[in-house]
Amino acid sequence: MKILIFTMLLLGVCSARGQTKITEYEYISLPYELDALEPAISRRMMALHYGQHLHSYVENLNRLIKGTALEGETLEDVVLMAEGPLLNNAGQTLNHNLYFLQFSPEGGGEPSGSLKRAIVHRWGSVENFRLAMEEAARTLFGSGWVWLAADVAGNLYILQEPNASNPVRYELQPLLGFDVWEHAYYLDYENRRGDHIHALWQVVDWPVVEKRYENN
Ligand code: MN
Repeated sequence: MKILIFTMLLLGVCSARGQTKITEYEYISLPYELDALEPAISRRMMALHYGQHLHSYVENLNRLIKGTALEGETLEDVVLMAEGPLLNNAGQTLNHNLYFLQFSPEGGGEPSGSLKRAIVHRWGSVENFRLAMEEAARTLFGSGWVWLAADVAGNLYILQEPNASNPVRYELQPLLGFDVWEHAYYLDYENRRGDHIHALWQVVDWPVVEKRYENN
């Protein structure tokens, strides 16, 4: 996974210099088995969400971007600049890449280091932060995402975003994203979105989230 991330970063740098363009946006591999996040996320849910929803978003992105001015740009830049169906599919590709790679069967516990200090500075405690994320997820009307995001100064924000939006649209760094589309939880939790979001804390891979913050 480290090699993959490094390769993606390298591609991004090359692209920014106009040397190498991305020819195809990647359908990421999962660093864990489909049943590894049970009971927070069941194998059946993961097979549908990762295996079908994300796969479709990536296929649509690669089809829709051909011949457009954004072809070859980094995924983040596409999400920053695209509109309409291209934004929807690029946004959902980026969102789900961040989502699936922020979980681990060895996850849970608490953040540490500079991220923990920033969370405590902003919300008073990690527990208050968790409650604020859960509240934002419960109260987002319709389909969308709740994000923990950082600005360049390291300040933290919780964003409620509709549909396929991502903090990169505001030039903020996405750190942790909770998917509140019904496809993310309905099979396992029916209408109990809050129970699903609460269970996700068991599988959050905090070292991944901390790296996103430190690399910001
Ligand atoms: Mn989803």
